[in-house]
Amino acid sequence: TSATTTECPPTGKLIVLTGPSGVGKGTLMRSLLQRHPQLYYSVSVTTRSPRPGEIDGKNYYFINRSKFEQLVAQGEFLEWAEFAGNYYGTPRETVVNQIQSGKLVVLEIELEGARQIRASFPNALSIFILPPSFEELEKRIRGRGQDSEESISRRLVRAKAEIAAADEFDIQIVNDDFEMALAAIEAAIFE
Ligand code: 5GP
Repeated sequence: TSATTTECPPTGKLIVLTGPSGVGKGTLMRSLLQRHPQLYYSVSVTTRSPRPGEIDGKNYYFINRSKFEQLVAQGEFLEWAEFAGNYYGTPRETVVNQIQSGKLVVLEIELEGARQIRASFPNALSIFILPPSFEELEKRIRGRGQDSEESISRRLVRAKAEIAAADEFDIQIVNDDFEMALAAIEAAIFE
């Protein structure tokens, strides 16, 4: 690809990618990181069990609820939220250090966490990924085949509420055509 580090602004910055579960933000994020290795991806902490193939320290840091609550009490998270019965949070120290050293730091998080980030980092760039339709989103979540029926229905209920909040964010991008969505994210970050 033609991306170069000269496109990267000289100062550190926080970029938040949010949107409902199943919208494809994880896949978009992976491609974004492959194409722009200068981006720093913050690995989140979660109490969810690993899905097949997920690696501790790479996809998430997998910990139990009492440990998570302890980290919350110690102020170790930049933001955290409960989602579909599990906790998810962004480690504070690594992210702050990366921003201070001038990096572009990208977070891929759900709505409540994205709101917390916007409140504490007014200069953050926030991008909301929308599905082409709710029906298509349901198809994608089911098609992923990785979650229990209970988790799927919780995710769908939550998705409705999340989509309704899309216009709180700086930029909205519909993930219909993957390459076009990716190009729109790149434009938002680098232009
Ligand atoms: P999943 O269980 O599908 O990996 O993630 C569920 C939701 O939690 C997704 O919308 C994902 O973006 C979000 N998420 C992942 N990490 C974090 C985090 O650190 N904080 C918050 N608030 N949400 C997160």
